[in-house]
Amino acid sequence: MASAREIIHVDMDAFYASVEQQDHPELQGKAVIVAGDAKARGVVSAASYEARKFGVHSAMPTAQAMRLCPHAVALPVRMERYAEISQQIHAIFERYTPLVEPISQDEAFLDVTASTNLFGSAEQIGRTIKREIKTQTHLTASVGVAPNKFLAKLASDLEKPDGFVIITEQNKHQILDPLSVGRIWGVGKVTEQTLRSRGIRTIADLRHSQLAVLKSIAGNSAEHLLRLAHGQDDSAVEPDRQRKSVSSEQTFATDIDDPQVLSSVLLEQVEEVAQRLRRNRLEARTITLKLRYGDFRTVTRSETLSEATNLTQPLWNAAQRVFDQWHKRSGGALRLLGFGASGLEAEGAGQGTLFADPSAEKLKRLDATADQIRARYGKRALHRGG
Ligand SMILES: [Mg+2]
Repeated sequence: MASAREIIHVDMDAFYASVEQQDHPELQGKAVIVAGDAKARGVVSAASYEARKFGVHSAMPTAQAMRLCPHAVALPVRMERYAEISQQIHAIFERYTPLVEPISQDEAFLDVTASTNLFGSAEQIGRTIKREIKTQTHLTASVGVAPNKFLAKLASDLEKPDGFVIITEQNKHQILDPLSVGRIWGVGKVTEQTLRSRGIRTIADLRHSQLAVLKSIAGNSAEHLLRLAHGQDDSAVEPDRQRKSVSSEQTFATDIDDPQVLSSVLLEQVEEVAQRLRRNRLEARTITLKLRYGDFRTVTRSETLSEATNLTQPLWNAAQRVFDQWHKRSGGALRLLGFGASGLEAEGAGQGTLFADPSAEKLKRLDATADQIRARYGKRALHRGG
């Protein structure tokens, strides 16, 4: 049996519209839509709650929205601004867990199962995140806390805006049962209509349905629907797929062939990458050197470590071995040198032996101190010898 999980779903309220209201204080409390030009058959990307009261919603043609709510202020989409705030919010998530799965700019799942030792219960973490988002961005988020992704997402939606709902194994049926079957993941308009026509209107109806009946309606999805109706969902929180590696590289003004100079550049890169891994509570299993010659020929050389790590010393040892081999075998003048760490996993995921190792403990303290010094005095404040 899978062990109990603690999942949080965070969803910003009317994100683009709220950002615009925040950036234009005179629009607070007013009907605002962020939308493409009505004349160019644009559609609504987001509507403030004041505009939603008039039936305006996203994906609606802008022209129709303006007919429903003629006094609404229509603003163009400023994607860069939203991305900037999205990054701030994401940085808040990453303080509490490396297991963050962004669904869109304003929505993410967090698996905080392993974070509760450090930061308190999932409820406390959820409330802290909600508060930090409010303090930093002045925007409200709705938060759901539950034992799985399906329930967490449902929970964040129940008391929107500015909601905070906890669903547990104990209260899940009480919350799910009265809801429309349309609230189940993957039940679109057509399936919903078919289910309704067969007398299955609520999640309770669905939960009490015979599998054979459901199969005649939903085919292969029947078992999945039934599991969701029971509040069961095993799908994992999958961290940012783009975050497959952490790397640092440098192009030189003139090609460099001096191995000592290259080696010192490499050390700086290793330190930077290791620090970023630690900050994101990730560990890497594979290191890769990227070497580009003056004629743009590019080669990569990798080594896989016996154990994933984010400690500078073992990463640097591996980088040195790979670099020395390259230098012995070919060497040459480089226009670019890069160092990357991949095969990423959550810190401590494969642990056990390393923590028991006193020398690893010492390296860990050394790195923590170095990170603090760099945070205080800048990244060039400190270099380790050799
Ligand atoms: Mg949202």
